[in-house]
Amino acid sequence: MQEKNSLKTQVRYIKGVGPKKSEYLARAGINTIEDILYYLPKRYEDRSSVTAIKDLKPGEARTIQGEIVSLSSRTGRSGASIFQAVVADLTGSIHAVWFNQPYLRDMLKAGDKVILYGKVEIYDRLQMVQPEYEIMEGLETDSVNIGRIVPVYSLSQTLTQRFLRSLTFKAMTECVRFAVERLPTYIIARQKLVDIKFALRNIHFPTNFEMLEKAYKRIVFEEFFILQLALAIRKKGRAPEEAAFGHSMTAGELSGSFKKALPFELTDGQKKAISEIERDMSGAKPMNRLLEGDVGSGKTVVAAHALVLAVQNGFQSVIMAPTEVLARQHFIGLSELLMPLGINVVLLIGGMDTKTRDRVYSEIKDGRADIVVGTHAVIQVSVEFKNLGLVVIDEQHKFGVAQRALLRRKGLNPHVLIMTATPIPRTLALTVYGDLDISTIKELPKGRKPITTYWVEEEKRLRMYDFIKEELIEGRQAYVVCPLIETKAAGCAGAVATFEKLKDEVFAGYEVGLLHGKMSTKEKDKVMKDFKKGKIKVLVSTVVIEVGIDIPNASVMMIENADRFGLSQLHQLRGRIGRGGHESYCILLADPKTDNGAERLKAIEGTLDGFEIAETDMDLRGPGEMFGTRQHGLPEIRFGNLAKDFGIMELARIEAFALIEKDPKLLEEHHQLLKKSLYERFRGRLELVRVG
Ligand code: ADP
Ligand code: MG
Repeated sequence: MQEKNSLKTQVRYIKGVGPKKSEYLARAGINTIEDILYYLPKRYEDRSSVTAIKDLKPGEARTIQGEIVSLSSRTGRSGASIFQAVVADLTGSIHAVWFNQPYLRDMLKAGDKVILYGKVEIYDRLQMVQPEYEIMEGLETDSVNIGRIVPVYSLSQTLTQRFLRSLTFKAMTECVRFAVERLPTYIIARQKLVDIKFALRNIHFPTNFEMLEKAYKRIVFEEFFILQLALAIRKKGRAPEEAAFGHSMTAGELSGSFKKALPFELTDGQKKAISEIERDMSGAKPMNRLLEGDVGSGKTVVAAHALVLAVQNGFQSVIMAPTEVLARQHFIGLSELLMPLGINVVLLIGGMDTKTRDRVYSEIKDGRADIVVGTHAVIQVSVEFKNLGLVVIDEQHKFGVAQRALLRRKGLNPHVLIMTATPIPRTLALTVYGDLDISTIKELPKGRKPITTYWVEEEKRLRMYDFIKEELIEGRQAYVVCPLIETKAAGCAGAVATFEKLKDEVFAGYEVGLLHGKMSTKEKDKVMKDFKKGKIKVLVSTVVIEVGIDIPNASVMMIENADRFGLSQLHQLRGRIGRGGHESYCILLADPKTDNGAERLKAIEGTLDGFEIAETDMDLRGPGEMFGTRQHGLPEIRFGNLAKDFGIMELARIEAFALIEKDPKLLEEHHQLLKKSLYERFRGRLELVRVG
């Protein structure tokens, strides 16, 4: 490492790293010495305690220490070279066996004192296959691979743990002292964090597990802290525009009549959400709230109440849904509820004829339309509002950041309420929605019977059909969900073919309907109406019914090839039933090919709690994949674990928000390095972080 003080030194200048290796390293994102230091282990092996050879038991991975008594090499039957050493300590001896590592002949000599780490086996005799080894030279054993808690990195196959470990060790011993402390001292002190040099040393080569934990906490804290700073800045950043904001709304007669007109008693969660929204909307700043609640928790009425509040105060409001089917359903529901109160609700979706569309456009423009319900159609340039005061986005995870921003711009700093039925783990909520206020509806309305879920294999299919028939005889309705529209491969049911089969054979005598995304708006509309009315008894569909559809009389759902769906998706689908007072059943039909597939089905079978499912989903898939943090304009989380590090995230958030409150533009001297890493990390994305 030639240049002094340079964490930015390219790895290829390090002795022992040739052009080949530096290319492999680059592929893992390692270009500089700093990158090496921040390439964190994915796990650790405790090789710190040495076991006496007589105490070794097969099946365990252990560290031993001894002397090489003899060496031999030969060529095996398959042509592989086999190199063996007998290693003895005072209590016994063991054979160490290496395949295809002929160079070991030059490394190891009889009489060498060695440390070995590996899995113990019995194969005629006690042996370790392919153990990691370290030669103890003299007394000094600054061993990198054995005799300590050892880091294990995730690797591309061309780099070995051994190589990376010694590279990291070298980088650490020679360069950690140049690492720059970015966190201000007062935060380090208040949060009892270790300093960055200590953290980097111990994250790779911890002296013990306690130190490792401290190191981990420190590094993750810094990562989360920078993220929360960005979120805090964004939230603060809206303030100047808000000065001109004048949509302070009060609750009054209309919202009172609305509540009275509801055919049910609101749940506590709904009441709480409503009052939080009222408080926001009567304030001096635009609301920016996320309403989170499991499928079926009744978010729509909460949104409806907000819409009414806007109308009562002389503003227009809009609710945008991700599918036409859902938009229509909202339109019907809201019209029934609100038209009697004298509120004009209009529908705006893509497939309307020009005449109707133009009429709707002009109603929106001149203010006759109080509430607009629609799909993406509402964010078209040609849609002009007279005075939009509230924007509601349903099933927001189905929309991109840009689409949400477009809708927001249709008004002058309107209040924004976004809703999601994909419960998200708490840590992630503080990240992805870090600049929003959050209302959560925890409970389902009273009187709901829990849904029973069965995962069954293909061979039980006929029995399941009989089961569905029994429900139909009771007067209930059923969904059959398929992963695709057309059958593409054997053993994977397409909706069209399933529909034909069920209609002609299985449920002959019952009205069977078909619904999928390639049908025209008109057709879809008719099918949904007929299903809602109870004319259609069995609805065969694709995931178009995944979000929002509300048919309380449907009590069974059979999901074909259930292993092809994501966990959260299955949970969403299942949320379509169990909405009335009937016992409901979800049948997952699948013969999964992988353990992961089976695990996911078991998870769905085992719980109805959307939050629990979200956590499992995140464990199985990883948070990035699950929510596309990138899609939210956030950088990838590299060090922390969103599923587990909630505590650290919370602390980082508190500190970051307090800091921005005090020094909003990061002008203070001891915040300069933070500012720099903030810009490095977000590079022009700060604006995009804006959700909604
Ligand atoms: P989601 O939160 O999934 O959007 P919905 O708003 O579609 O749920 O509500 C699901 C069903 O529950 C609807 O039929 C709705 O009328 C009904 N519902 C909502 N709130 C209550 C309540 N407090 N008591 C009884 N039924 C309710
Ligand atoms: Mg909904």
